[in-house]
Amino acid sequence: MNTIAYKCPCCGAPLTYSSTANRLECASCGNGYDIEAIEAMHPAEGGSVQFALPTDTFQTNDAGEMQAYVCKSCGAELMTEETTTATECPYCGSPTILPDRIEGGVKPELVIPFTVTKEQAQQAFNGYFKGKRLLPNIFLHTRNRIAEMRKLYVPYWLFDCDAQGSIVYDAEKRQTERQGDWEITRIKHYIAHREGRMCFESIPVDGSEKLDGRITESLEPYDLSAAVPFRPSVLAGAMADHADVDAHACEGRAVERVETSISNTLRGTVKGYTSVTERSKNIRAEGGKVTPVLMPVWLITTEKEDKTYTFAINGQTGKLTCDVPADKKKSFAWGGGVFAGVLGLSVLAMTLLDQLASGTLLMAAILAAVVALIVVGCLRGQLKQAAQQSAAENYVREGSFDLQVSFDHFLYETTQRRRIETKKD
Ligand SMILES: [Zn+2]
Ligand SMILES: [Zn+2]
Repeated sequence: MNTIAYKCPCCGAPLTYSSTANRLECASCGNGYDIEAIEAMHPAEGGSVQFALPTDTFQTNDAGEMQAYVCKSCGAELMTEETTTATECPYCGSPTILPDRIEGGVKPELVIPFTVTKEQAQQAFNGYFKGKRLLPNIFLHTRNRIAEMRKLYVPYWLFDCDAQGSIVYDAEKRQTERQGDWEITRIKHYIAHREGRMCFESIPVDGSEKLDGRITESLEPYDLSAAVPFRPSVLAGAMADHADVDAHACEGRAVERVETSISNTLRGTVKGYTSVTERSKNIRAEGGKVTPVLMPVWLITTEKEDKTYTFAINGQTGKLTCDVPADKKKSFAWGGGVFAGVLGLSVLAMTLLDQLASGTLLMAAILAAVVALIVVGCLRGQLKQAAQQSAAENYVREGSFDLQVSFDHFLYETTQRRRIETKKD
């Protein structure tokens, strides 16, 4: 039998195959390993993703029913149906929007119609400024005039994507015991291998360069069951943004979310260890269909001290998001106040119970800091700030997760000894 180029995970010496034991053995440290475990530590590389991109584009004969525009000021490419008069750019408010050619642009396949009315969107916007402790004063002391409430169809690409993931983890089980003056920790090292498959449907990625990805991802989820096939008449009274970021440029974001989802799911199946770290990961995404769709958004911009703030409301669900920052001074005041309050009460309680010492004081300070962070975090949450989604959990096809490989192999054991310091009095 040949010597295999694998190295011992315990000491680094080369491993040899023992046909009698059907294992890989280390002559140097004497440990033996299952072949499956050692092979899992040396995974193969993954490939690239291919999606079926949409090909249906606007033709010359669509020009009768559709109008296209380009904004001279911000460059937005827009479209609407023939009878809607476009007077200003929904993004920058500029009145200089010029006719453009409709041919060649990707034709949307589906549209989710607006169900949130202008009045409801206005109410949501006006109600936003009430009861938010960390709202900067510029939003409180000046009128929040709605420059314009813009009814906009935002282009998204919906990605269908299957993912096959193979992840190998280093895992440890630690057990500590005391023997006289010594603290002995036995560490059992394991290798855990998980392989699984998941299918994702209709992960949305916006194709609008003008809108921040954090805003469009914060507007999720949309209910696709309400989508209707695209017809120019659906756009009456609204403007739609042409997808100016093509599907190919957007697929990376969908794949990123898919990879995070399958990683999280596989990690969730590794249980019973003191610590688990990822050793190697190989995720292969298989691209499926890409569907161009228009999503309804009420867009509001408001100007404060030469800065423009964007508010966006999901035109189907009424969910609001924005890029309003938290007031720094107010955040510090709240954090500091809560910290001092909790610490003060703890010290008082400890004094009454006669438990005041440097150790308990440190514990009280940590507790106060944690409470302060939680309170400030909750108050920030009120601001509904736009943030990226981390994964694609909402788009997993129900019951599609299939755990194909799941093994845990014990590798070897190590021991750590530490002399326990005797008490100094
Ligand atoms: Zn060894
Ligand atoms: Zn514009």
